Amino acid sequence: MRRLYVFDTTLRDGEQSLGLTLNIREKLEISQQLVNLGVDIIEAGFPASSPGDFEAVQRIAREIKGVIICGLSRAVPEDINLCWEAIKEAEQPRIHTGLALSPIHRQYKLGVTPEQGIQMAVEAVKHAKKYVSDIEFYSEDAFRTEPEILACVLTGVIEAGATVVNIPDTVGYATPWEYGELIAWVMENVKNIDRAIVSVHCHNDLGMATANSLAGIKAGASQVEGTINGIGERAGNTALEEVIMAIYTQPSRFGIQTIINYKEIARTSRLVSKITGVPVPEFKAIVGENAFMHASGIHQDGVLKERTTYEIIHPEVIGVPQNRIVLTARSGRHALRYRLEELGYQIDNQTLNKVYERFLRLADQKQEIFDEDLYALMGDKEGNGRGKIFMKSFSVSTAGPAKAMATIELDMDGQTVSDAACGNGPVDAIFKTIDRLLQCEVTLENYSLKSVSRGKDAMGDAMVKIRAGDAKLYVGRGLSTDVIEASARAYLNALIKARTQMSTGD
Ligand SMILES: [Zn+2]
Repeated sequence: MRRLYVFDTTLRDGEQSLGLTLNIREKLEISQQLVNLGVDIIEAGFPASSPGDFEAVQRIAREIKGVIICGLSRAVPEDINLCWEAIKEAEQPRIHTGLALSPIHRQYKLGVTPEQGIQMAVEAVKHAKKYVSDIEFYSEDAFRTEPEILACVLTGVIEAGATVVNIPDTVGYATPWEYGELIAWVMENVKNIDRAIVSVHCHNDLGMATANSLAGIKAGASQVEGTINGIGERAGNTALEEVIMAIYTQPSRFGIQTIINYKEIARTSRLVSKITGVPVPEFKAIVGENAFMHASGIHQDGVLKERTTYEIIHPEVIGVPQNRIVLTARSGRHALRYRLEELGYQIDNQTLNKVYERFLRLADQKQEIFDEDLYALMGDKEGNGRGKIFMKSFSVSTAGPAKAMATIELDMDGQTVSDAACGNGPVDAIFKTIDRLLQCEVTLENYSLKSVSRGKDAMGDAMVKIRAGDAKLYVGRGLSTDVIEASARAYLNALIKARTQMSTGD
C-alpha cells in the first residue's frame, strides 16, 4: 500500500483568505493540534509577505516538533533567503518555491517567455538547494499550463533537486477526470518523475476540490494539500478531512493510506473554526453538525437495527463521542476528568482543578452539562478571567424600545475601573461602555450569537469581528448562559487582541 503524505496549508492558503491575521499564539495552537492530528507537513506561512508572517513561521519552526515545517516563497532569491531564515531552526525544514507558467500568467503577471520561466524555476530550486535538501516546487496554475511546458519545468526542477512537485489547480477549474488525466500524464511523460513525490493542490471554485484531489491521488500523486474545514481563497481549498475520510472508508479503492489520528479530526475542525471565526456549515461533510444525524423515521429505524444501513463512518472514529452522559453540579472531579478524557483531552491535575471550578460555576447556572458545554469550557480560556484585563461585573437596564444603559466593571492590570454608556438596545450599550473603558475606536464588522448545546438554558456562543485602527480584522468569542454576558466577553476579547497586537506586534 502506498503512503499518502498530508500537507496542511491552513495557516498559509487558509489564513491569507480570512481578511484577518491570526496572532502567533493562535498559530502555535493550531500547529500543535495539526501535529496531534498526524499531518506530515505544516505550511506555516509565507515569510517574505510581511514581518509578522516571518516571525510566526520562525516561532512555529522553533517550537513545533515531529512534523515537516514548510515555508512558501516566490521563485526569487530574496524570498527564498527569507524563507530559509524563518524555517531553518525546524526539526525538518522544507522550502516551497515556484511560479506560474500558464500562458495567461506568463503574459499578464510575469511577462516572461516559457524558456525564461523555466530558467527562473530551475535557478530558484538550485538556490534553495544550497540551504536544505527538502525542496517542493509548485507550478502555479498547472492545470492551465501547456502539458509540454509543464513536463519541461518539472524535469528541470527535479534535475535541480526538487524532491516534491506540486501540480495545483490554482483557480479551481478542473473536473475530476481531467485532473486525474493530467496527473497520469505527468507520471507517464516526465522522465525523472520517479525521483520526486507528486503533490495535488486543488481549489473548490466548482465544488470539486475533494473529488479532483482524489482523482489525482488515484492517478499516482502521493501528497495532498489542503486545509481544515476547507477554508481558503474564494470558495476554499480541498478540505483535508474529506480526502482523509474518503480514503479511510475504502483504502483499497485508492491503494494508499495516511497515518492520520482520525480521532483528532473533530477537535481540529472545532479549534480551527473557533480561532478563525469561520463557522462550519451544518451540512458540511465529515465535520458538520448534521453529518451523523439521522432524521428520517425510516433511517432512524434502520440505524437502530443495524448502524451500517445508513452510516458509512462511525462518528467515534473522528472523535465525536456517542454516549452522551450528562454531568451535573453533583458530578465530581473524577467524572469530569473521565468525560474529558473520553472527549480526548489530556489534562493535568492543576488544569483539572481550574476547569472544575468553571464547570461548577456553569453547572450552577444550568441543570445539565453536555459535551458541547465541555468543549466550550475547554476552549474558552481567555474569556474567563485569564490575562490582564477581565470583566468583573456588568449590568444592563432597558427602558422602552431601543433605549438601554450598561454599566461595566473591569479589572485592568489589577485595578478596578468602571464606566457606563447608553445605546440602542443592551448589546449596543455594552459595546459602547467597553469602547469607553478601553479607549478604543473600532468598527464592528460582524456580530453573531448561537447556542452551543441543547435545552433552554443552553450556553450562548457570541462571535464578534471588529476592524481596528490598523485596518486589520480581529475576532473575539465569548461564552455564557447569559447571552448579554457572552456578547460582552466576545467584544472585550476582540478589543484586547487588537490592543495587544497593535502595541506588541504579536
Ligand atoms: Zn492554493
